[in-house]
Amino acid sequence: MKKEITIIGAGLVGSLLSIYLSKRGYRVSIYERRSDMRKNSMSAGRSINLALSDRGIKALAEVGILEDIRNISIPMHGRQLHHVDGTEAYQAYGKEGQYINAVSRGELNRKLMDLAEAHNVKIFFQHRCDNINWKTNEISFSNLETNETVTTKQDLIFGSDGAFSAARMAHQLQHDRFQYQQYYIDFGYKELTIPAGPNGSFLLEKNALHIWPRGNYMLIALPNLDGSFTCTLFFPFEGDPSFASLNSKEKVRQFFNETFANAAALMPELEEEYFTNATSSLVTVKCFPWIRNDQFALIGDAAHAIVPFFGQGMNCGFEDCSVLNSLMEKYGEDWSSILQEYQLLRKPDGDAIADLAINNFVEMRDKVADPVFILQKKIEAAFSAKHPDKWTPAYSLVTFSPEVRYSEALRRGHLQQGIMDEIMQKPGINENWNDSSIETTLLEKIKSLN
Ligand SMILES: Cc1cc2nc3c(=O)[nH]c(=O)nc-3n(C[C@H](O)[C@H](O)[C@H](O)COP(=O)(O)OP(=O)(O)OC[C@H]3O[C@@H](n4cnc5c(N)ncnc54)[C@H](O)[C@@H]3O)c2cc1C
Repeated sequence: MKKEITIIGAGLVGSLLSIYLSKRGYRVSIYERRSDMRKNSMSAGRSINLALSDRGIKALAEVGILEDIRNISIPMHGRQLHHVDGTEAYQAYGKEGQYINAVSRGELNRKLMDLAEAHNVKIFFQHRCDNINWKTNEISFSNLETNETVTTKQDLIFGSDGAFSAARMAHQLQHDRFQYQQYYIDFGYKELTIPAGPNGSFLLEKNALHIWPRGNYMLIALPNLDGSFTCTLFFPFEGDPSFASLNSKEKVRQFFNETFANAAALMPELEEEYFTNATSSLVTVKCFPWIRNDQFALIGDAAHAIVPFFGQGMNCGFEDCSVLNSLMEKYGEDWSSILQEYQLLRKPDGDAIADLAINNFVEMRDKVADPVFILQKKIEAAFSAKHPDKWTPAYSLVTFSPEVRYSEALRRGHLQQGIMDEIMQKPGINENWNDSSIETTLLEKIKSLN
């Protein structure tokens, strides 16, 4: 039996995975490059938050830690759109009672580390993985405190060290015909803040994800427990406007006042933050294989880094853990079968959510404000409410339907979009959208697909 397991990276996925494994009786050690974030104050109090949805929630519930995480989350029931003319519109994410959750990345990671240690997981901080020797299964780490090289030998190793994974690199360099694809979009992102109002009040609607869609780019904001909002500007690197063109405090203030007026009015530190906070890039990574016999597997962003426009990177990594758990249930100690099937199941799903996430960028920054798109969503929602067994919108399949695989959500989404493209071409659709003839056509088209 493989009693000892090493995980590389104590991020969101590595920390959660360690809880799953230790609950099954394994002795788990995690090696993490960074120092212990629970002992260091977070960088200047900045809070970066993520949307946690049903796939992630299912995994947290499975290991019994969902309530701990719910206590640090804020439900977001829909999108609050802020148009350039100052008007606002609200779009519910799903049906009544369906929502996503804003949760601070730092808080979540700290909680997961606490819970991992409470399950007897040992975390070695400031240990950077440099290489893995697959003949001997020895992992080399640099101890960043002492500058010593440390090696450990383990039967089973998980690489959960993120999008720029050193474990993946060690795997890749010593693997014949390893497939690797890395794709940067021409847009980057920068985090900014809307501080809390008096007595920790929220200056925008608390229970919504705010979007300022502007065609080629957008600003979004998610609520934090302290009343502030973390905003993210998704913006081109080059061109006009772009990160390159907004190169002075005056230009930044003027641009924000003109383009995101109500947000700009709530951002007293805008100019300082804009030039202090990093401009970061957005990458998709696809690779194969994810595993090595019964001795190694990539998981989380290390296996499938995706752009953040569906709010699914972490949720997908948490789902990896859940799938792995069900395979441990199925195969017991047979790690060769567990890892083979893990890869077989998760690779197509990782690829699918990567594609869905890229497509959703156009939807968020542009289409959400487009009247044709809004009408289409209205027709879909009305039809889905009447025939929930026949039609679930693609967003809901991804976000609220963990029983449907990402690859199936992508497939169904394509088919449904094909049908809706035809419906939207119908003469007079703006006026007739709620007619029974539309319902009949939709039913016929679905039947013909089946
Ligand atoms: C702007 C943005 C917004 C996002 N929003 C969402 C969202 O709303 N919802 C969502 O589900 N996902 C979101 N994501 C994606 C999410 O952040 C990732 O999918 C998630 O963090 C992946 O977790 P991970 O543990 O695989 O990797 P990470 O969180 O990157 O953790 C990797 C860990 O490995 C450590 N490490 C790295 N290299 C080494 C090494 N050589 N040796 C040892 N340790 C190492 C790192 O220090 C880190 O602790 C977003 C991403 C971005 C960039």
